Amino acid sequence: MSWESTQTYYRAINEGIRQEIGGLHSAKIVLYSVDFAEIEALQMKGDWQSAATLLTRAAQSIEKAGADFLVICTNTMHKVAPEIASGIAIPILHIAEATADVLVLDGIRSVGLLGTRFTMEQAFYKERLLARGLDVVTPERADRDTVHRIIYEELCLGQVRDESRLQYLAIIDQLRARGAEAVILGCTEISLLVNQCDTAVALYDTTVIHAQQAVKAALTAV
Ligand code: GLU
Repeated sequence: MSWESTQTYYRAINEGIRQEIGGLHSAKIVLYSVDFAEIEALQMKGDWQSAATLLTRAAQSIEKAGADFLVICTNTMHKVAPEIASGIAIPILHIAEATADVLVLDGIRSVGLLGTRFTMEQAFYKERLLARGLDVVTPERADRDTVHRIIYEELCLGQVRDESRLQYLAIIDQLRARGAEAVILGCTEISLLVNQCDTAVALYDTTVIHAQQAVKAALTAV
């Protein structure tokens, strides 16, 4: 969610499998592609219960189709990961935990977080990072609004604008100035806009990390 980042996941997981086992191998994936407009409407209404129900049904059909584990391809909707988990028997590979594992392994202690307003402001995501001993720095209010707006009004619609990239890079610099040793791209579309080559600040792209962990988990499950 949105499909703009679903295609990034699909490619990254298949590339990971090719890298690990080579040849013509590709990932066995059961993909349930949602209508993001329905999800977004529920997010804006704050109707997380209906969103949880919708995603739990999707997760149940993925489980029925034979998947060994579930990857929810968005940071924001991990808000309802506990509800989804209680409706299925297969495990969920949590995006914030996967990211925290990599940060801790790299010796990062203080990290900036960019994502939707839900991800930056609510507890469901940050608490997973804090639980791993990480300090989390989020942008100031006006900058959070900018980051959020660009995700929904541009990136989820496939629009990549130079002026938005500059705004993101300025916000990343601010996070660095406020003590962040690295910055989490905590929304799966942000890497459409900003990449490591754009900044000296270390970036942790949740889409790539989550896809890599999915490859690892898939190969372990075989
Ligand atoms: N894909 C985004 C994320 O990682 C935002 C859109 C959504 O709500 O899924 O949070």
